[in-house]
Amino acid sequence: MRQIGHFIDGVNVAGVSGRTSDIYNPNTGEVQAQVTMGTSSELDIAVRSAVKAQAEWAGVNPQKRSRVMFAFKMLVEKHMDDLAHLLSSEHGKVVADSRGDVIRGVDVIEFACGVPHVQKGEFTMGAGPGIDVYSIRKPLGVVAAITPFNFPAMIPMWMFGMAIATGNACILKPSEKDPSVPMRLAELFVEAGGPIGLLNVINGDKEIVDAILTHDDIKAVSFVGSSDIAHYVYHEATKNGKRAQCMGGAKNHGIILPDADMDQAVNDVLGAAFGSAGERCMALPVVVPVGEGTAERFLEKMLPAIENLKIGISTDAEADYGPVVTAAHKAKVKEYIDLAIEEGATLLVDGRDFELQGYEDGYFLGPTLFDNVTPDMTTYKEEIFGPVLQIVRADTFEQALALPSEHQYGNGVAIYTSNGRAAREFADRVEVGMVGINVPIPVPVAYHSFGGWKRSAFGDINQYGMEGLRFYTKTKTVTQRWPEKDEHNGDSAFVIPTF
Ligand code: NAD
Repeated sequence: MRQIGHFIDGVNVAGVSGRTSDIYNPNTGEVQAQVTMGTSSELDIAVRSAVKAQAEWAGVNPQKRSRVMFAFKMLVEKHMDDLAHLLSSEHGKVVADSRGDVIRGVDVIEFACGVPHVQKGEFTMGAGPGIDVYSIRKPLGVVAAITPFNFPAMIPMWMFGMAIATGNACILKPSEKDPSVPMRLAELFVEAGGPIGLLNVINGDKEIVDAILTHDDIKAVSFVGSSDIAHYVYHEATKNGKRAQCMGGAKNHGIILPDADMDQAVNDVLGAAFGSAGERCMALPVVVPVGEGTAERFLEKMLPAIENLKIGISTDAEADYGPVVTAAHKAKVKEYIDLAIEEGATLLVDGRDFELQGYEDGYFLGPTLFDNVTPDMTTYKEEIFGPVLQIVRADTFEQALALPSEHQYGNGVAIYTSNGRAAREFADRVEVGMVGINVPIPVPVAYHSFGGWKRSAFGDINQYGMEGLRFYTKTKTVTQRWPEKDEHNGDSAFVIPTF
């Protein structure tokens, strides 16, 4: 059985705890590897290596840091196919989607290559008599990145890409469900000329997360995962004096106004609801047709489209989506479907009993569609994170606007309409962090930044882009004066200087 340890000080090391977690092949249900669960003493070794590496890295000029990031980007692109296959083998998403996972991470590395420009700082000459003021952004030191299973390439790169480019070292704690791609990325970083110790990967579960949250030499924690854990990590990290940004779960709505291009809306919602078996924080698991007859027009096209979906193993190039990540996750999604029926939602398509021939032990689920879902239902309020689409009908624009605005999550939302004025008003008023107008999965490009509202994100600063730069750096402002010797009059000032 393949054993996955940690990546510390530039090498793969076996874990010492004796505690492991199984990694499955979601297509077959077989255990394909085991990953070690780290201990606080292993974390200590990783942090010591990171502290040493960071002290030197912080003094490396920005264009040299940029060159390392650029070499890393080139190497990841060279290994794109291998990485995508490795990712699919543990996650279950289809290979084309895994490529997208890697590419969206590389986008952030590309942005990070611009660090000489974006980390330049600010300068004011003559802020007072003979006085200049400049502000610079210094790295924090060693930071930690704790990541979820559903984007094992993109999300680690969001974090360590920005952290390292800005002069920090990073301890990456990937999901225990699919740690192989993060481990491989760390190897590639060293192969690309990244200084040893700057990116260490420590595997594990709550025990190692708690060790991270209490480690004195870790100055900031970036987390992405489910909301309860995001809240816990945010609370503990900030209590211990660390900077924290903790992204949580989601329940994104797709609003369809009566004047929407229905073909486009159905195509987009189909991909965004069922792509990656619904295991995306920017999926669209709720659709809100607005006004009389809109739901019927939506269903007329959506039902046959669902019928035509192809579910297959992750290496099947024809498949629209693959299995979910684990048996436990499959069981949880099925429980939500059972509950939705009990709650009175109308089951139009039932994916619970889907089996893929030859892969009966794989974690496959067919698409499920519910109509007449209402805001009081638990299955509406909570995140299901599976291939389940719920229709909540709304009579008016105001009702449709209220649904995502009043939901506990506020990650993303999409609106379909041909009315620019309505779209503009919706985007302005909706209480959600990321909005798509005729765009289904509005994950911002790398030079903007990513972050939801309400229980979808704890902390004030978003991921990547200029927000990422701010998260991983602290401002130092210097006020300087270079007077001639005889300019000193020897008097002390007892009032605050004003200019
Ligand atoms: P998860 O919360 O189970 O795990 C995330 C990380 O936390 C993992 O590294 C895991 O090892 C660690 N962890 C698990 N239990 C812990 C505990 N009790 N204490 C401390 N750490 C713990 O999330 P997941 O199932 O891996 O990922 C899916 C979730 O992530 C969904 O809720 C999804 O919406 C969310 N997500 C959010 C975003 C976003 O940007 N908002 C992006 C991707 C995924």
